[in-house]
Parts: sequence; structure tokens; C-alpha cells
Amino acid sequence: MTRNEELFLRAQKTIPGGVNSPVRAFRSVGGAPRFFTHGEGCRVWDADGKPYIDYVGSWGPLILGHDDADTVRAVQEAAAKGLSFGAPTEGEVELAELLVQRVPSMDMVRLVSSGTEATMSAIRLARGFTGRDAIIKFEGCYHGHGDSLLVKAGSGLLTFGNPSSAGVPADLAQHTLVLDYNDAQGLRDAFVKHVKAIACVIVEPVAGNMNLIAPKPEFLAAMREMCTRHGAVLIFDEVMTGFRVGPGSAQGLYGIKPDLSTFGKVIGGGMPLGAFGGRRDIMEQIAPLGPVYQAGTLSGNPLSVAAGLVTLKKIAAPGFHEALAAKTRALVEGLAAAAKRHGVSFSAQSVGGMFGIYFAPTPPTSYAEVMACDKEAFNRFFHAMLDAGFYLAPSAFEAGFVSAAHTDADIAATIAAADAIFAAG
Ligand SMILES: *Cc1c(COP(=O)(O)O)cnc(C)c1O
Repeated sequence: MTRNEELFLRAQKTIPGGVNSPVRAFRSVGGAPRFFTHGEGCRVWDADGKPYIDYVGSWGPLILGHDDADTVRAVQEAAAKGLSFGAPTEGEVELAELLVQRVPSMDMVRLVSSGTEATMSAIRLARGFTGRDAIIKFEGCYHGHGDSLLVKAGSGLLTFGNPSSAGVPADLAQHTLVLDYNDAQGLRDAFVKHVKAIACVIVEPVAGNMNLIAPKPEFLAAMREMCTRHGAVLIFDEVMTGFRVGPGSAQGLYGIKPDLSTFGKVIGGGMPLGAFGGRRDIMEQIAPLGPVYQAGTLSGNPLSVAAGLVTLKKIAAPGFHEALAAKTRALVEGLAAAAKRHGVSFSAQSVGGMFGIYFAPTPPTSYAEVMACDKEAFNRFFHAMLDAGFYLAPSAFEAGFVSAAHTDADIAATIAAADAIFAAG
């Protein structure tokens, strides 16, 4: 038995499924998850000492790679001064100023400790601000595990949703309307039918939690138009896309200004940190200024803030995102060319520093198309790549991430490994 397998057996005795977040358990691809001991640059080492080139990057945060020296130093210095105060610090103000400056739609921002907290709070705020209860989300988009968001589509078109997790009250789920991603007409129809009830629309402006789906420009435009016309709050959930797809995040890339935005992942540089912010008149409804309650013992934690500040400053270097996007594009183009050479039904695409690979002839544009991809082919490819020393997300329905620490040689080695796997059939 490998050390990984030993650890996994041991973990399952005290941790449900052996993991602290379900997708880590490798249930989708099978086999034992890799337990990591350390990371450096674009590489991670598992408990058996085997290195991998990492395309998960802690699910997106590690845009500078593992163990970035400046980030680690900043966290160590912050730790030496105090782990937490439960009182304001100057670092929080600096991070808030930096976020507001980099995200033009944000007049004010509040820091929290995770992406889930950011989206839950943004939805409560939208409901409090509008005095309405209903929310619109899109099938396949993930916004953390808040009760109102763990909802699947109802039985009929334009009917409210049902819980997608045990423990979510049906009474709550029925306030969530689940529509098809990239379906602008469906969104317009929903607004016509339920207009007076809709508090907000929440969307991943580039979907990255059902593999990667790029938004159709008319889909995002319809959302902005309908929310403005009917007084609903448009929430861009940029927990994954924030500072990942470009310096202006997805809202900069597509030129759409949401009313509220949520952030996480990259803004914490690998430490637990989230944020939600937006229009001043909406943000002023939060306690202690307004009636919408939201709080956190460790919110604005000094270590997380230190890591976030260094990360946001480093990625503001001229050309950072262009270089990251070019490398990510080289990866997906190389993989697609290799698959084509060997007649494998495969496609791939990237947006900035995130990418999707699909065992389907063209990249999907909807949840239904993603679900139609060949999952078994992905699972075989995943395990072959893992054996060869390349760590992809352990599911056909997750996006991948490239970091600044991946070199052209790392990308070339990845393409060469995939080529050999495709050649073997
Ligand atoms: C990861 C993610 C979340 C949840 O963030 P956590 O920090 O895991 O709670 C929310 N929304 C999107 C788009 C995400 O990718």
C-alpha cells in the first residue's frame, strides 16, 4: 500500500469521506486522493515523494504558484505581530482601497473569510436592499454552499427550485429560480413572469464549476439590462474569475458593470479570504450602517490580508495577465493539436489563466452540453496524466488553472505527456 493510500484509510476513520471538501476525495475519477506534503512553484509533492506539475493551484488561488517567497515572508511578518485582533487594522483598509481601485464597479467592500461567506452575504444584502425574496441562478454555476444556492431546477420551465442537498428546506429553495446558462431568452422570460419578486441575479461571469463555459456576450448583456429595468441587483460571482481572467476580472473583460461582486481565491493568495462589494447605496445597507446583518470573528484576518496584498500588488506588474493568458492558451492549443493528431475527440479553451478540457469535438456552451462530454475518457486521461506526474482537477466538471510559476518548458512537457497518452489510445 502506498503512503497516500494509508493516509486515506486513516483519514476516513475520523473525517467524513477522508476529506474536508468533497471533490478532493477523487470519487468522480476513482482511486485514492494524493496527500500533499509541500509545493514549490508549479510543483507539488505527494506523501510518497512523487512530484507533479499542478494545474489545480488550490482550486485557483495560487496564481503566483506554490510557496511564493514574497507572500510567505509577508505572512510570516504578519504572524509575528499577531494572529488576529478582532479589531480593525491598517492592512484591511489598504486591501479595501486596492480592491475598490482595481474593480471600478465597487465603491465599497467588506472582507470575509471564504467565497461562500461572500456570496451568502451578497444575497442577503440584495434581498434586504430590494425587499424581495426570489433569486435567479444558473444551472451548473457554483456559488459556495449557502442554503439558497444549493438548489436545482424545478419540475417545469420557469418554476422555482428544489433543494440539491439534504438539509436545505424546500421552503427556502422555492425562492430560487434556476435557469440555463447562456440562455438570454430564458432569463427575459423569467423576468417577465416573476418581475416583482426578483431580488437578484447571481452568475459566474465565466462558468468554472461545470468545467469551463465561456459566456455569450448577449447573455451577460441581457442580465444587465433586465436587472436595471426591473430594479433587481446583478451579482457577479468573481470568486474564481476575480484577477484570474484579467486585471479587471471578468467584468473588465466583458465590459459589464454589476451592482455587487464577490471575490475569494486569488485575493487571499492561498489564505482564507473573501470579499463582497459594489454600489455605495447598496453597501450602506449593511450593519452597522444599515439593517442587513453580517459579521465575522476572523474577518479581515491580518495573515490573510498580508497574503492578499502581496498577491494583488505582484499581479499588477505590467504584462502579468497577458503572459499568463498566453501560457494558458499555449497549453490548450497544444493539447488540442495533440488530440487531433491522434484522432481523439477532444477540445479545449482558455479565458485568461483558467482553462477547460473536454472530451467532445467542440467546447460546450451549456450545462447540458457539458454533461454530454465523455466522462470515462476524461477519467482515463486524468489517471494517465497523474501517473505521468501531472495533477489535473480530479473531475471532468472542473476548470484548470495555470500560474505564473509554470514555465514554457513545463507547458511543453505537459503537452508531450498528453500526446503520448493520446497516441496510446
Ligand atoms: C470557489 C467558489 C466559491 C466558494 O468559495 P469558498 O471559498 O470555497 O467558500 C463561490 N463561487 C465561486 C464561483 C467559486 O469558484
